[in-house]
Amino acid sequence: MKNKPVAIVTGGASGIGLAIAETFVKNKITTIIIGRDTKKLKAVKQKLGDGCDIQAFDLKDRKGIPAFIKKLVKKHGGIDILVNNAGINMKKPLIEVSDEDFDNIIETNVQSIFSLSREVVKYMLPNKKGSIVNISSMASQYGIPKVIAYSASKGAIESMTRAMAVELSPNGIRVNCIAPGFIATEMSAKALNNDPERKNKALGRTPMGYLGEPKDIGTTALFLASDAAKYITGVILPVDGGNSIGF
Ligand code: NDP
Repeated sequence: MKNKPVAIVTGGASGIGLAIAETFVKNKITTIIIGRDTKKLKAVKQKLGDGCDIQAFDLKDRKGIPAFIKKLVKKHGGIDILVNNAGINMKKPLIEVSDEDFDNIIETNVQSIFSLSREVVKYMLPNKKGSIVNISSMASQYGIPKVIAYSASKGAIESMTRAMAVELSPNGIRVNCIAPGFIATEMSAKALNNDPERKNKALGRTPMGYLGEPKDIGTTALFLASDAAKYITGVILPVDGGNSIGF
């Protein structure tokens, strides 16, 4: 039997996911980190040590998810926390986005999250306890040009959060979502650094006036996953320096 809580953090080998994994490990949560890039995963293992388990898996392999989760449950004795953080972005004018481009984003950012959550919930149900934290974006709070598929995917994540929260509440499973503002990671660097106008716009409507740090999301995920948030479910919590209410 396990004596520490067990969490899955998808995309936990970089950026926001890494900060969430670091925060969990520091707080004695055994953390299973999922990603595709084995080099990045090995570097995280070196950094975080025994408190984490690295697992190379492409979340687009939806057919493989049930057996993968079964294997993880057998290895760790159960899953208490799931953080659906892995995601991809694509910046292109609407008319240049092919059907394949659009589908690729939806597959990674929506369909995989559904399949993974469904499989993990199957193992949470008998325990009558569990916490799921999804990661959306400001792209679901207001309209951002040139990110049509990403915006659609993040809107879907927020809707799924509410639907799952309501359905799973009687079973002791809480489902919440963090909507990060502009956080300094590789993904945001790609979107903002070659586009000073976009960067100025993002910062201009952020009352705090600076980009957030990945660990700002890490500490929020820890709060939502923990019993400190035991009466909180179905919320979409902006962690954004005020960006979503900026004038
Ligand atoms: P990163 O690109 O650093 O991290 C994304 C992670 O997702 C990577 O570690 C990547 O791992 C993993 N990933 C992507 N596709 C797959 C896949 N098919 N299977 C397994 N893992 C996958 O970005 P961020 O840290 O910035 O973003 C993390 C989340 O936060 C995303 O959902 C993003 O949309 C969201 N977000 C980020 C914001 C920001 O300002 N940075 C703002 C709002 C939301 P690998 O490379 O190994 O595949």
